[in-house]
Amino acid sequence: MGDVLDQISRMGTYFIEFETPFSWHLRAVNRVLYSGESKYQRIAVVEFKDLGKALVLDGKVQSSLFDEYVYHESLVHPAMVLHGNPQRVLIIGGGEGATAREVLKWDTVKEVMMVDIDEDVVNVSREYLPEMHGGSFSDNRFKLLIGDGRRFLEESGDRFDVILVDATDPLEGGPSYLLYTVEFYRLVKSRLTPNGVFATQATNTAYALKVLAVIYRTIGSVFSRARVYQSYMHSYDAPWGFVVASDASDALQLTPAMVDDALAKHVRGGTRYYDGLTHVHMFTLPKHIRAALEDRSIKPATDSNPTFMPM
Ligand code: SAM
Repeated sequence: MGDVLDQISRMGTYFIEFETPFSWHLRAVNRVLYSGESKYQRIAVVEFKDLGKALVLDGKVQSSLFDEYVYHESLVHPAMVLHGNPQRVLIIGGGEGATAREVLKWDTVKEVMMVDIDEDVVNVSREYLPEMHGGSFSDNRFKLLIGDGRRFLEESGDRFDVILVDATDPLEGGPSYLLYTVEFYRLVKSRLTPNGVFATQATNTAYALKVLAVIYRTIGSVFSRARVYQSYMHSYDAPWGFVVASDASDALQLTPAMVDDALAKHVRGGTRYYDGLTHVHMFTLPKHIRAALEDRSIKPATDSNPTFMPM
């Protein structure tokens, strides 16, 4: 143990991110660009020696320059391709602006509404993470609303072709756990246009596989075609899970040629990670994950019985 501690001390400053009570990441830090506390969460922008600049909320890495494009392309483009002609898109969360950046690449998009509960996250990202938002905040199709994403859906009669939830993981006492329940997904469905598509980050298929399975079953109890897919994220040291859902179309029916054609036709500036072959890779899940997702003993999460990350 001594040599590990010696190594750590030689690294200088380091950051410990807890995955579960029994496992954590230790990352060497170059510098901390911002650290503060908003009404909702602790916010930091840290430059790690391995990941580069990263947004950290409540001690959890949200995205880093090392591989944020993997996460944001995974969240956005399958849903957009599945819809085919998305014009009005809603993002719940999305603080650093990278989800909006990917949506705005689509030439079909006329309006992107981003509803994030924490103005401080947006302002800090605008200043310290221009590589992430890529100027999306000043695109004339982009509209920012500061508020709770669920309350926005309850109070607004707006309808959207695609709704994306890019919120923090469901943490006990955190601001986002009510974005992963049956009641919320029913609300989402009521705010989609007839061929609307919904997608959400859904934690991971490693140490949170049970949480992912609950989120999947919960969405599957509201939408007739809910599909899980995953992309490995070095920043999270885990294969990250997503769910895309619709009543009108099925992501498993998208062929590589269909995906490549849609991206070539509509996506200005192209993608770095997602294409037709990657689509097949993401949606081809190994047996143990498929078994966990089909476990009939898993009950959907509700407002009175929500699901939470291990910590
Ligand atoms: N990439 C990250 C992930 O999937 O782990 C999420 C990125 S983004 C930084 C998460 C955003 O969700 C934050 O900006 C946070 O303020 C926002 N958020 C959390 N709860 C929310 C809520 N109830 N309504 C709207 N935004 C919320």
